[in-house]
This record gives sequence, structure tokens and C-alpha cells, in this order.
Amino acid sequence: MAAGSGTTRGMKGTAREERAEGKGAAAVEVKAAERDPRDTPAMRQYARFKAQHPDCLLLFRIGDFYELFDEDAVTISKALGLTLTQRTAGIPMAGVPYHAVENYLRRLIEAGFRVAICEQMEDAAAAKGIVDRAVTRVLTPGTLVDETLLDEARPNRIAAVQFTGVGEDSGAVAAVVELSTGEFSLMELEGARLADELARLKPSEIVYVETADGATPARVAKLKEMTEGALTARAAWTFRMADATDALRGHFGVTTLAGFALAEGDAVIGPAGALVRYLQETQPGGDGGKALGHLRPPRRVETEKFLQIDAGSLRSLEIERTLRNGTFEGSLLWVLQRAQTPMGKRLLRHWLAFPLRDLEEIRARHRAVQEFLSDDGIFAGIGEMLGKIQDVARIAGRTGMRRATPRDVVALGRSLGDARKLAEMVSGRPAMMKVHEELKGMAEGLADLAERILGRCVEEPPAHLREGGLFKEGFDAELDAARGLQRDASTWLAEFQRKLVVETNIPSLKVGYNRVFGYYIEVTNSHAAKIPSEFVRRQTLRNAERYVTADLQEFEQKVTTAEARALEREQKLFEGMCGEIAKATPEVLKFADVVAELDVLRAFAESARKYRYVCPEMAEEPVLKVVQGRHPVLDRTLSQQFVPNDCALGGETASLALITGPNMAGKSTFIRQTALIVLMAHAGSFVPADSARIGVTDRIFTRIGAADEIHAGQSTFMVEMTETALILHHATERSLVILDEIGRGTSTLDGLALAWAIAEAIADVKCRALFATHYHEITDLADERENVTNLHVSVREWNDQIIFLHRILAGRTNRSYGIHVAKIAGLPSGTVARATELLESLAVHAGHQQTGIATKGGAGVRENEQLSLFTQYVNHPVVDELKGMRIEGMTPLEAFDALREMKAKAEGKKD
Ligand code: ADP
Ligand code: MG
Repeated sequence: MAAGSGTTRGMKGTAREERAEGKGAAAVEVKAAERDPRDTPAMRQYARFKAQHPDCLLLFRIGDFYELFDEDAVTISKALGLTLTQRTAGIPMAGVPYHAVENYLRRLIEAGFRVAICEQMEDAAAAKGIVDRAVTRVLTPGTLVDETLLDEARPNRIAAVQFTGVGEDSGAVAAVVELSTGEFSLMELEGARLADELARLKPSEIVYVETADGATPARVAKLKEMTEGALTARAAWTFRMADATDALRGHFGVTTLAGFALAEGDAVIGPAGALVRYLQETQPGGDGGKALGHLRPPRRVETEKFLQIDAGSLRSLEIERTLRNGTFEGSLLWVLQRAQTPMGKRLLRHWLAFPLRDLEEIRARHRAVQEFLSDDGIFAGIGEMLGKIQDVARIAGRTGMRRATPRDVVALGRSLGDARKLAEMVSGRPAMMKVHEELKGMAEGLADLAERILGRCVEEPPAHLREGGLFKEGFDAELDAARGLQRDASTWLAEFQRKLVVETNIPSLKVGYNRVFGYYIEVTNSHAAKIPSEFVRRQTLRNAERYVTADLQEFEQKVTTAEARALEREQKLFEGMCGEIAKATPEVLKFADVVAELDVLRAFAESARKYRYVCPEMAEEPVLKVVQGRHPVLDRTLSQQFVPNDCALGGETASLALITGPNMAGKSTFIRQTALIVLMAHAGSFVPADSARIGVTDRIFTRIGAADEIHAGQSTFMVEMTETALILHHATERSLVILDEIGRGTSTLDGLALAWAIAEAIADVKCRALFATHYHEITDLADERENVTNLHVSVREWNDQIIFLHRILAGRTNRSYGIHVAKIAGLPSGTVARATELLESLAVHAGHQQTGIATKGGAGVRENEQLSLFTQYVNHPVVDELKGMRIEGMTPLEAFDALREMKAKAEGKKD
């Protein structure tokens, strides 16, 4: 439909312009056929804009369409399946109708294109010469603000990144903006932290320095690895201190940046200034940078205030999506996302990715959740109010960018209407004191604004102001007068027609209207003789003539001007109202923040109620004691069938627990649920357990072994070792470390050796740690180290079957039940039988020298015997003993005894 009538549409659209310019500029007469099709005023204007935005698809407004030419036309026709036509010979053209453009824009942005929109800045009919046009916005993934182009439940961020050193591990400074709400934050990141922060901020676009200054191709490649967002190179000078400082000062209208806690020459100014300049360019708004009026002053983020989660852990804990197929369903967010407002939904997501580290701040959130739980009144009351609050943050943003619609404004009015009631509701509650203070401070102003908006606007506003109809009758006298004229028009016309019928004695005389000729009087040819002389002929039809009279023309003049006047007046009133709103933007945004916070806290309470979560007791010392903990996701899907388990680490108990048990027993589930419980607690949520005491945690490290990791395009063992290295380098006594099947990605022997060494290193750190492993040999570590303990997942054998009890118990296991699991998985019975046979014979041949597989009924096989696997490669304890023996000081009898003991040990008969 879009391009169906392409050719005629496009030619007609600009024909008038070109005629007009031809007249105005007294163009040299050139025969159409000889003329270069690109050498027309419109095409020259197009070429100029295209040259300014070479990396964008340029949508060029001509009449009711946005047209694309040349390469752009070919690209869009392929991308969106539009018909490709030709403007004139040799110029490919495709177009989309202006009223449906948002839909096309969404698809183009999703497909990864940048789009520049060139609008007509004046009425084509009124234009003298070529219509004045300007690029009013450039759409890039990180700079979208339109409601239709954004997901309400997720922030859309853009980041500017600048590396601060040259080495592999160089730090970085970054500026991050959420344009739709105007949030602006700055951060300084050491070493590898950039990747982790980008992983949880998930910017949809990253702006970086284009030239040798820092962005060598390797760097760009590294950036690309860190993000799924688009990468945009920008000139190095925009990041330069002097220019960046200027950009910030200019934008915020300040002479010094000290007010933003930015010292002169502060490294974060570079990306901040560069980002502001980029945003100004993409949002020219035809209005000298005023389009960014809602951008908040930059705030430095103290990354140390948040529990750190690296990119890998974020993924393996399945916070926002599952590992296996990347779906929202099955993630932690899927369980906990019960916020009602878009702001709340975005904040809840944010809190899960950025849990707190400050004990008091965490406790404050828990107290507020408790308040919601213990008082049905506010749980229901605030719930109801939240249900009516729309995306005021983004509406404020759009207002600041002069892109608000009438519906936005009315929605804002409705949303702010309850500000006072909300303030009252949270008053007198210690857990909500801060929220109350903030609400109280702004409630009056916001309620006023709401009254002004709702007092002036109709209940059901139009989607846009093109046809008017936003303001109520009685609000503005001038508007009422103009509208009155329009309304009276139909009465007047009816009366006019009735009068003419009588006067001319032509019963079939009709008064009508069409877009080209305006108002007319139509008389069929059979009455031609009765036409009065004052009728002036306008148009001839097949069997009728159309006329006008002086009266009718005067009327027409009045109506059209009234219509235009009404529209113009509404436009002006609307701008005035948006101006008032824009002035209140800081308060509106603050209100949005408070609402979001209440919304999330209430959502946490709702989850706690629905799934029987408890308030975790937060402690200063690094302990972890979970009684009857559950995995939040499986708890939701399996409900009663889920088997809860205890977990105790640190304090009185060992800090590292090694967990063994057959495949499918529930090892991974147990260790992940523990990490999730800790994370939820730090985010302010209650936790799925009967009780939990949790010491404040600085970082959660999660390493899910190669076998469980299904992450596209990476050498899994390498990733496994890289992430393990990260843990060993950075874990502290306050960290929680979750290791799942480390060492699986390589051969049994060096896998075991690695796993062992890693377990030792983790034990040395004394961080709280859970290590699930199928290497039963490692359980010996518990004998050597005081702070290491063994857990296993219990299994019951029954009639040659095994039943998974999913119950975590103290002590070790040394059976893998691999064949049982294979049987359950449907391996053909012949194969299962053969495996059993092989296992038995292997066990006999290997004697006690086998690993991982144990003979049937071999549950009592001593752990040390399995160590014998190591004898060829690693020093056997006997060898060590031998080395350490001082024969000189022994009696022959003592030497004989020692020898006998060692022989027994070497044969595995004795410890
Ligand atoms: P492992 O890591 O020991 O191989 P998983 O933790 O992956 O085992 O668990 C395998 C499956 O067993 C899970 O997908 C789940 O369906 C079930 N399961 C695990 N733990 C429990 C539990 N505590 N209660 C009920 N079912 C569980
Ligand atoms: Mg597992």
C-alpha cells in the first residue's frame, strides 16, 4: 500500500514546488527530457540533507509521504518489503505514508538501521519557492523516546565510553543516558569492570572515540564483544576535555561543572560531553538544542555501593533471561516482576541487576516491604493508585523534547492527580518516612498541575493535535469563538440551501463541499435556465454545473479561517501547557522515582505473599544460613513438589561446601538457589526460605561448568577457565562463590587436577562458597581443611531404580549413577545392559584404581583409594612420607613398621 502509487505520488508532490522555484528563480528554460533528473530543486535539497547524514536512511517528507531515494530506497524496500518505484528515470524511490510512519520506524530500528527524518518546516501551499525542510530527529537505537518504539518495562540506554589507558586491562570512563526519562550518570571503571557494567546496564547503543586516541580496532572488537548494542564511532575531539567541558557547560547553562561534583579535568567529563553533543545532534528538534530540556544533571555513580555481579554470573544466574534459550519466562525477573507502573517495572529490573551493599539501605527496603505485608490497607490502597499511574517519567521526557501528544498530557494529569492522596497514605509510617517526606514536598505543586491539566482538557483527548479537540469548551474564549463559527457552519449552510431553493425555484439545488473547489452550489442541467445572474460558474460536470456566489465565498472564507484559527489557537494553548509541564519536570521526574520505588517494594511484598517468602536477617559478618531454602523459579513452577534445602556457610560452619551426587540429583539447583537468595536479599526482596541470615556480600561469583553452559560461539573450556581466574583474583572474604562442575571441559585427569587446585584456592580465600562437582575425589579436601565440608544429594535405590530425593545431606557420596540416569533418559536397554557389563569389568580390571565410576554396591569404597588414580602423576602420600622419613633416627624395628604401614597404604588397605 505504501508505495503502490509511488510514481505519480512523488512527482505530483514536488511538481508544485519545482514550478514555484522555477517561477521565483526565473529558471532557464530546459526541456524536461534533457534535464538531469537529479538537478531539480527538491533533489538538490535532498542531496544536501543526505550528505549531512550519510550513515542514516533519510526519510524525506513530501506531502503526505516520507520518500526515500537511491540506495536508501533499495534498502528499505528490501528490509520492509515495500514496492520500489522510480521518481524519474534512474532514481529509485520508495515511500511510507506519514500517518503510519511510527510502525515503519520501529521495524527499521529493530533491523538495526539509523534513520534521519527530514520534515517540511512550512506549509507546502504557502511556501514561496522550494519548501523549507529540516532534519528534526535522527533515530538511533540509543536515542529513541517514542512510546511506540520503546519497551515500557525496560530502560533504553545509550553509553559513551572512553578507555583511560592502553593496556589489555585498562580502565574506562563512561557516561550513560536514558534519554526517554533524562537520567544521566557517570562512572569510572577499573580494569575489566567495563564489560561487567555494560552487561547489566545493557545500553542499546555505545558511542566511542573514533580515532587512534583510544579506540584501536582491537578495542572496538572488545567493545563489540561486551555489548549487543549498536556501536557508533564519534570524532575524537568531541571527547577532548576542553570540548567536552564546553558541551556540558553549554547544555546546562553553567559556567563551572563544580555543581555536578565534577572537578576541572575530571576524566568522566570526556564521555559525558561527547554524549551530550551526540544527543544534541540526533535531537535537533529544529529548536536549537532545546529538545533536550529534560536531561537531568549528570550524577556520578559510586559503583562500590552495589553488589558486584560480573557479566558471566549475570548470565548464569538467569536474572533477566534463561541460559538455555534466552527467554524471559524461567528467569528470576519472570518470578518477581509484579510492578504495575512502567517506572516500577524498569526499576525492579534495575534493582535485581544492581543489588545494594549497604546494610542499612538493604534493611530499609526490607522494612518497607514488611510494611506492605503487614498492612492490607496500604497494600491494596497504594496498589490501586499505582494501577492508575502511567509512564510519567517518559511523558515528562517527551514533554521536555517537545514531543508530547495530547494523550500524554492528559495521562500525566490523571497520574499526578493522586499525588496528595499517596502522600497521605504513606504518612506516619516509619518504614516509609523518606518516601513520605519526598511526596509531601511535591504533592501540592503536582496536584495543582494535575488540576490545571484536567480542568482544561477533555476526557478523551485525540491522539494528536492535527484536528484539534483537546481543550474543553469554556477554557479559552478565543478558541470557543473559533469553534462556534465552525459549528454554526452546518446550520448556516442548511439555511442557505433552503433559501436558494425557494428563491430559484430549483428543488434539486444542492450546496456542497469538495476539497479542490471548496463550497459550491450544484444545479442539474435541466434547470440551467433558472440560474440567477449572480451565480458564478466554477466547475462543469456531466449533467450538472457548480456555482459560487459572493455570499458563499464570504462564508467559506470565514469557515476556513475559523478552522485554521481554532487549530492555531489550540496549538498555542498546547505549547503553553507543555511549557508549564516542562517547568515542573524535575518534580514530575522525582515523583516518578518515588512511585517506582513504592511500586517495586509493593511488588516484592506481593511476591513474598504469593510465594511465602520471608524477610532475610541481614548481618555484618560474612555468614549464610538458609533454612529450607527454595529455588525461586522452580518454586514457582513445581510449587509443592519442590524439595527445600538448608544451607550454612561461614561463621561457625565451614565456608566452602563441596557438593557431590549423581547427575540430575539437584546440585546445580541447590547452589544456584543459594546465590539467588543472597542476590534477592541484597536487592531488597524477601527470600524463598523458612528463614535466612545473610551477611552482607560484596560480590557474587558464579561459574557454571562448560557442560551446563550453552552460550553461543565461545570455546567453553576457555571461558570456564577465564571466569575461574577472575574469581580467584577477585574473591574476598565477603564474596559468595558458586562453582558448578568446574573442570568438566577437559580430560578427566587434568579436569580433576584443576578442580582440586581451584577448590583449595577457594578454601584459602575463606569466602562463602559452594562447589558442585562430580569428582568425588575432591571430597578428601574436607579432611585436610577445617573450613571445608562435604554435602551430597541423597538418592534412594529401589528395585534397581534410583529415586532422586533432591535432599541435600551432610557427608560425601561416591556414586555417579550415570547408567541409571542414562536409562531414565531412554538409552536403549541393550546399550544400558552393555554399559553395566563394561562397568563391572572395568571395575574388576582397575581394581580400586577407578575414578568416577564405582562398582555396584561400592558405596563403601574408601575415598583415598580413588586417589590412587593420581599415583602416576602426582606424588602419592606414601612417597611424601618416604621423602620426609629420617631413617637415621629410626630403630630397625621402627623402620620395619613404617615400611609395612606404607606398603599397606600403597595397596590401599589402610589410611
Ligand atoms: P544436577 O546439577 O545435580 O545434575 P540439577 O540441579 O540440574 O541436577 O537438577 C535436575 C532437575 O532435578 C531439575 O531440573 C529439577 O527438575 C529437579 N530438581 C532439582 N532440585 C530439586 C528440588 N530441590 N526439588 C525438586 N526438584 C528438583
Ligand atoms: Mg548440574
